[in-house]
Amino acid sequence: MASYDSDSDFEQEYTETSVLLGYASNDPEDDTISRLGGIPEWLNPDKPPSASLARCGACKDLMVLLLQLNGELERFPGHDRRLYVFSCRKQTCRRKQGSVRALRGNRIDKAAAAAAAEAAAKEAEEAQAKKEAEKAKKADGPGLGEALFGTKPLGGPESGANPFATSANPFSTGGNRGVSSNPFATSAATSSPPAAAAAAPSTPAKQAEPARPETTTDAAASLPKTFAETLNLHNTQRPSGPPPPPEPWPESSALPKPYPVSYISDAELEVLDPEPPEIPQNVRMEVDDSSAGDAGAGIDKDTFESSMDAVFQKFADRLAQNPDQVIRYEFGGQPLLYSKDDSVGRVLSAAAGTGRSGMPRCGNCGAGRVFELQLTPQAITELEADELGLDGMDWGTIIVGVCEADCVQRGVEVGEVGYLEEWCGVQWEELATN
Ligand SMILES: [Zn+2]
Ligand SMILES: [Zn+2]
Repeated sequence: MASYDSDSDFEQEYTETSVLLGYASNDPEDDTISRLGGIPEWLNPDKPPSASLARCGACKDLMVLLLQLNGELERFPGHDRRLYVFSCRKQTCRRKQGSVRALRGNRIDKAAAAAAAEAAAKEAEEAQAKKEAEKAKKADGPGLGEALFGTKPLGGPESGANPFATSANPFSTGGNRGVSSNPFATSAATSSPPAAAAAAPSTPAKQAEPARPETTTDAAASLPKTFAETLNLHNTQRPSGPPPPPEPWPESSALPKPYPVSYISDAELEVLDPEPPEIPQNVRMEVDDSSAGDAGAGIDKDTFESSMDAVFQKFADRLAQNPDQVIRYEFGGQPLLYSKDDSVGRVLSAAAGTGRSGMPRCGNCGAGRVFELQLTPQAITELEADELGLDGMDWGTIIVGVCEADCVQRGVEVGEVGYLEEWCGVQWEELATN
């Protein structure tokens, strides 16, 4: 921060990006909410989330807070909104799925919720009218999903094509099922607008009966009986069924030792040097525009390795220009990838230029997910300021993606706080291979 200020004389020559950089400080100034470390402060202290949301996916122990961010945004008027990133303290859990998790808490005031419900109802009405018009045109019978539920899954073909949605959904806890591989769960979960679902969780029977055209009764009847029976079983048991009972949030004394608090009270738009940084001889520069389409070009091994280096080099250069940044924030923006070669980097870079984020859809409402923020290695330095000499955290960046609609947890009453797990992609430091 200080070093940046001293450069501001040359501002006209510098490039300002749309990424907001957050800096750590001991002084909370006006924002006591946004911070690294400490213990979480919930939107309503009397209604914390289920502790199960803060348990390590690998060892099941409670995790510690890395980041708490005030996420109120003009684009979501009337939404109290907060983000949390947790990490497991255990070294043995490093690099394991679920050892870093992100939560989004929010509360929508009644006026904003009513306006949103009205808009959703109108949209649903229009969609229904359009669907009926299409149905009238169609000579063929409806697809299986339509026959059974009288509706198409919201995700549509897109969610099927998303490799994350079907195979690598990192969230498997209870009601937060995500766009899972179970087509019935997906269809049931996404077919009702969140407001309606919150008011009265509907059963598929209710959805199916009135909407099912007569002809599809025959279609259902002609299914192999065991399949139909199995389906029925699933339907009666749990379409968007009750989530597991929430696990009480423990007393602070029962939590693992928190990291020290440093406030993120200072944020400024990223400013980049006028001159491109010097690129080492052994790294071939990759033109940014080509990066999305270079996969199938039959590049040789050297070029491939250079392009990997170029991604990391770009990451390092961007951070080096504002070395004190602890978070990079841009709702709906692009994450700065640490690597294009790990599982997170591959999926996100493959989505570059497609208009989608590459992240799995929201498991609560079916909307798309967008990038919101990422933590930088400088955050580790802040968090581990008291732990010199220990073998510290070893991620390069933690990328958080959130529901683009900022939906409220299903089943939560209007005006109350809900918590949902969001997508969290950890790019671990590269291990030496020789
Ligand atoms: Zn763990
Ligand atoms: Zn959502």
